[in-house]
Amino acid sequence: MHIDAPPKVLVIEDEPSLIDTIEYNLTRQGYTVSTAADGFKALELARSLRPDLIVLDVMLPGLDGFEICRILRQEMATPILMLTARDDEIDKVVGLEVGADDYLTKPFSMRELMARVKAHLRRVRMIREEIEGEEQSADRRPPTTTGLNFGSLHIDPDRHEVVNGGEVLQLKPKEFELLHFLARNRGMALSRDLILERVWGWDFDGGSRTVDVHVRWLREKIEDDPANPRRIVTVRSVGYRFEG
Ligand code: CA
Repeated sequence: MHIDAPPKVLVIEDEPSLIDTIEYNLTRQGYTVSTAADGFKALELARSLRPDLIVLDVMLPGLDGFEICRILRQEMATPILMLTARDDEIDKVVGLEVGADDYLTKPFSMRELMARVKAHLRRVRMIREEIEGEEQSADRRPPTTTGLNFGSLHIDPDRHEVVNGGEVLQLKPKEFELLHFLARNRGMALSRDLILERVWGWDFDGGSRTVDVHVRWLREKIEDDPANPRRIVTVRSVGYRFEG
């Protein structure tokens, strides 16, 4: 979403009165609203509109909401808020497994739905602003075509390889991605939430402790003294900063 353009919300729901009510309320909040009443049209619209947020009913004709969620999650990071008629723990678990970001059980109040929508859109906007800031600062650095070098540490994204002191390190895929992300943003304090979003993605269902655990593993591999890290330093109450 452009920072000043109204956020686009796609509502996928087959109950006409509920579509009307949701659409009316979202429009009143200033959002641009599109609706789809069956699964196939929903997929088509999601792909062509690239909405900022999707409100998705579970029980739909054609493809059900879980199936739609699973498919869209492969294609886009858009937050998905699922609606279900049943207050069923199984539905909630399946919803999260297929990559939904949030969940509301019918009947819900419009006030509650609007609050959730607003919270998710605010999060999307904050992340995009942080990313834009990063990309601008990245633009000022000379392009690196042969990887990133920090003393004895060499990160080669083409070969997906990290060499430290002449030795190729055995890194798990997420360790590599995390190190590469930190190194690309050298000198910047990065929050755990931003790191999670960029390295693990929207659909990741674990907490920010995941970041801490991976940083610990990385430190054991790239720091001379993992107990006193000099490359990946902790930024109190924020997250981490790569020093080089
Ligand atoms: Ca339905």
